[in-house]
Amino acid sequence: MATYVIGFPRIGEQRELKKALESYWSGKISQDELKKTASELRKRHWIYQKEAGIDYISINDFSFYDNMLDTSIMLNAIPEKYKDIEDELDRYFAMARGDENHKAQEMTKWFNTNYHYIVPELEENMEFKANTKKIKEELSEIKELGITPKLNLIGPITYVKLSKVNGDEEKIIEKLLPIYEEILKEFKDDVVFIQMDEPYFVTNPSKKDLELLKKVYDKLGNIAPIMVATYFEHSNEANEVLSTTPIKGMFLDFVHGKENKIKALIDANKEIGIGIVNGRNVWVNDIEKSAEFIKGLTEAVDMDKIHIGSSCSLLHVPYTLKYETKMDEDIKSWISYALEKLDEIRVINKLVKNEELNAYDKEVLEGNKIAISTRKTSNKIHDKIVQDRVSNLTEKDKHRSVPFEERIKLQHENLKYPILPTTTIGSFPQTPELRKLRRDYKNGVISEEEYKDKIKAMIKECVEFQEEIGLDVLVHGEFERNDMVEYFGEQLNGVAFSQNGWVQSYGSRCVKPPLIYGDVSRPKDMTVEWITYAQSLTDKPMKGMLTGPVTMLNWSFVRDDQSKRTTAFQMALAIRDEVEALEAAGIKVIQVDEAALREGYPLRNEKRKEYEDWAITAFRIATSVVKPETQIHTHMCYSEFSDIMDAIEDMDADVISIENARSDNSLLKIFKERGYKGEIGPGVYDIHSPRIPSKEEIIEQIEAILEVLPAKKVWVNPDCGLKTRKWEEVKPSLKNMVEAAKEVRNKIK
Ligand code: GLN
Ligand code: ZN
Repeated sequence: MATYVIGFPRIGEQRELKKALESYWSGKISQDELKKTASELRKRHWIYQKEAGIDYISINDFSFYDNMLDTSIMLNAIPEKYKDIEDELDRYFAMARGDENHKAQEMTKWFNTNYHYIVPELEENMEFKANTKKIKEELSEIKELGITPKLNLIGPITYVKLSKVNGDEEKIIEKLLPIYEEILKEFKDDVVFIQMDEPYFVTNPSKKDLELLKKVYDKLGNIAPIMVATYFEHSNEANEVLSTTPIKGMFLDFVHGKENKIKALIDANKEIGIGIVNGRNVWVNDIEKSAEFIKGLTEAVDMDKIHIGSSCSLLHVPYTLKYETKMDEDIKSWISYALEKLDEIRVINKLVKNEELNAYDKEVLEGNKIAISTRKTSNKIHDKIVQDRVSNLTEKDKHRSVPFEERIKLQHENLKYPILPTTTIGSFPQTPELRKLRRDYKNGVISEEEYKDKIKAMIKECVEFQEEIGLDVLVHGEFERNDMVEYFGEQLNGVAFSQNGWVQSYGSRCVKPPLIYGDVSRPKDMTVEWITYAQSLTDKPMKGMLTGPVTMLNWSFVRDDQSKRTTAFQMALAIRDEVEALEAAGIKVIQVDEAALREGYPLRNEKRKEYEDWAITAFRIATSVVKPETQIHTHMCYSEFSDIMDAIEDMDADVISIENARSDNSLLKIFKERGYKGEIGPGVYDIHSPRIPSKEEIIEQIEAILEVLPAKKVWVNPDCGLKTRKWEEVKPSLKNMVEAAKEVRNKIK
């Protein structure tokens, strides 16, 4: 029995790698200096793991940007267009983030995490060949520390399945196999084994996928000792198939894939890694309970065959609690970051083996027991009033009082907007001056009064601009918000923020997710003052702007001591309180953004219904409280709706705005095929680019929309918030948009 870690974060506990990368990109440090930082970080991370008693430590989990991109380099899957760049590292960065002469490769979310990988672009006739320079370098470094590592590789099937493929996937895998064989041969004698990550197999693999899996690992398994790792869900179909191949064993996620079945693997005498310490969330593991669970397994299986480790790479959690000097002591005691998780893995392992605990282990275990027990009762977590509100929810709380067809008529009377009404998604440019203003206020450099006056002046200017160009439904501009989740999180009970809880999102970018640790409630108004001020400046409807419950959850570390459903309903009630307060203050249109609804979908089809059930219900709890004539909007930042249309319709929003401009109108086809109940604003231009769209092209876009949707349902808006744009871009773009809408309106009248 050994302890293992699937992979370790690399950005650095003080974000050293981020800083070095950004300094290198801006020409402030040399490539050698960047490489030196990287090498120091790798060593530090290996030593941390070694000192914590981890047996199986990885090489090749480090990355300057992303491991999928590293795999592309390892296989020489480099598109022609980057080949003119001589310097290897600069070519790598050009593939990751573009440069003056090269567009970056696409980036997308890694399964259901908030980590983004660089999507490989593969062609059948690419000249694949092995480039193991990076691996060799890391291997020689780790050997100096006296550690024999495992080698992490992304498996060929997951690699190809997650790529953009021009040609036949299977043929490409076929071509890659000999290269993987070569790499395995090169390293098999220097490492304990090779960890092949194949998380693709947690997503309902097809029969064909499984045949491919068999073929690939029948081959590779004979060349070197391989542990196949899957994570984020169970991989039962693959477990079954792989037990018939010559691989050494599998690492499985027993946190998010509790359903993982291991009988076939046991019968085939395979080794099994039990990922029991959560690599995706920050709450302490119940060490004794985990040990009991594994002891239960070892009654049936030879202890030597079982290993204990993290459920997935620790990349998805922050480094260490050491820097959390300001966090509430109780909350801190309920949390484990990567380093604390190493301790948990070690102590669980010792308990299972009945090994004696040293003083430090005892301290870990004692602290853990206290944390587990105080979490059950602490009044910082448990709020009877909130719990009762959730248990007393009835069907009535989940439905608008009258059906859409009736209330939309009342809304038209109430709001009097024209056909093809124009609006925006909420935020206006966040300028450097604005950021400084918020910082100064936060740091106590300026008074609350001065801060509010300045924000209000910006709101005023923004409202005047919107009136001037003739938008129909206005917004206040979100100048007081730094981030759409953080802004609300900071004002809610039950939500905390860390000082140093950084997690890599992509490249050098890190995020610090809020911690939803306790029962959630809203002690006072969160947006009413700003929105009502904005409304006082205009006779046009002012849209109240809130973040929805599902997005709040999906972009946070969510407590694991009650169901997500319950937490979502608590969050929904807190937002509902704000919705009610806005309505009572005279606001007639309220937008509740669910930007992250799509990404929260489970990886397994059979779990989708359950997710939709709580997620959609939470949105409805947040919004159903309003009068029929009050209009509820929602916004979503993506366009792949084909498989979730029923759920979207079920949210029962009166108006939904969505991304469309970047998706070649593919979304519109769905509307043509199945229709849509509510009113809808498919973005008419792309806000992710600084380009200013002309009136003519927006007219064309609106007309394309009108081919598939009846004019009386269509809104005209950009495809997302404008916060990342400059005023010089926003002003002419919106002006063109409003004029385009007017022109089309005149044509169809
Ligand atoms: N209302 C938000 C904004 O305009 C929505 C952001 C988002 O969809 N990510 O910025
Ligand atoms: Zn958006």
